[in-house]
Amino acid sequence: MGAEAFGLGKYSLGIGDRFAHEAEAQLVAFIEAARLGVDVTPVWNKSNREHLVVGSEPASVREAAAAAVRALGWQATYFVDADHITAATAERFVEPCDFFTLDVAASIGRPATAAAVEAFCARHGELTAGAQIAGIDVPVALSRETTTRVARHYLEAVAAAGHLYRLIVARRGGAAFLTEVSMDETEAPQTPAELLVILAALADEGIPVRTIAPRFSGRFNKGVDYVGDVAGFAAEFAADIAVVRHAVGAYGLPADLKLSVHSGSDKFSIFPAIRHAIRRLDAGVHVKTSGTTWLEEVVGLAEAGGDGLALVQDVYAGAYVRREELCAPYASVIDIDPACLPTPTEVGRWSSEQFVAAVRHDAQEPAYDRQVRQLMHVGYKVAAEMGDRYTESLIACRESIARNVTDNIFQRHLRPLFIGDQPT
Ligand SMILES: [Zn+2]
Repeated sequence: MGAEAFGLGKYSLGIGDRFAHEAEAQLVAFIEAARLGVDVTPVWNKSNREHLVVGSEPASVREAAAAAVRALGWQATYFVDADHITAATAERFVEPCDFFTLDVAASIGRPATAAAVEAFCARHGELTAGAQIAGIDVPVALSRETTTRVARHYLEAVAAAGHLYRLIVARRGGAAFLTEVSMDETEAPQTPAELLVILAALADEGIPVRTIAPRFSGRFNKGVDYVGDVAGFAAEFAADIAVVRHAVGAYGLPADLKLSVHSGSDKFSIFPAIRHAIRRLDAGVHVKTSGTTWLEEVVGLAEAGGDGLALVQDVYAGAYVRREELCAPYASVIDIDPACLPTPTEVGRWSSEQFVAAVRHDAQEPAYDRQVRQLMHVGYKVAAEMGDRYTESLIACRESIARNVTDNIFQRHLRPLFIGDQPT
């Protein structure tokens, strides 16, 4: 198998399955896209943070994905992503995963040594004299001064990625894997110019990076829509595509290198912009989602009524009193205004329809409540602590949950990202 054959393909979507019950329902959405002639590679991603909250092992993600692939006869490729790992957390992901997202956000801003910065600038004269990039409206402005500043800010993060990459290579014993470098969970976005410097440095470090996840402008809060300037995002995204393409040629990075958008799920206002850009520029993209499937479990349980509804009302009540604790690990990607949250007593009186209307992500629905949705997003810890009561309900309410999971991945993610309104 050549290096290109072992890859994500042009389009890929990361899907999360926190309780490992929805892989089949998720895969049905990819089968539907393929039936319409659009091949999208499924990548099951689960971060160390999610494993810690749920109390699960990375091997369980592989098992659930493989079982779904077998059950539905999926012939195309699929991957299991060790999402947002660091050198401290990589170990238990090494065996079951074949896609590794190296999270180096913690090293961003740690100043590189003057010698390292100097050596980088000396090696990259092209970056100190205003790199020319084809297909970009605004030229990437780089001078000796800016490249020095960017190198000083990012070289330590790139070195951390190199360290982690080599650790995985050594531990995998020759088994192939894909490498993503993520810099998204940080406060400041990276500009296209910064992305170019970072890619040059990753190439210097010898990392065959296949996907790169910058922090884009705007807010990518979990489970709710994008907050920011959509036109500005579209311009930045297109410029980043041009930068990636340029870096592949200039620095010998893998030819199928593409952007990875850690969407936090449900970024409906920018999904069409992503689709238009990748079509216009004939580029690939990887888009990660995660908690959106857990929220469809919530919707499906509420829709089922009876014990299912009572269970999600209890999850809300538990999450309501533990809001600060549950939101803490998601500080940079959750914005809840506690004053706007209904009390557990109110939610306890909601009908099935009211609960579904509040949580299902339909911005046209007047009862849609993004505060409740975000709280439920982080509330999966409460469900995890329910143990068997929760997982047995997933089985009891199988039909309504699977229908919502599939519909959400297909209609609200695969279609706007890769297919469009008209089947292609
Ligand atoms: Zn991320």
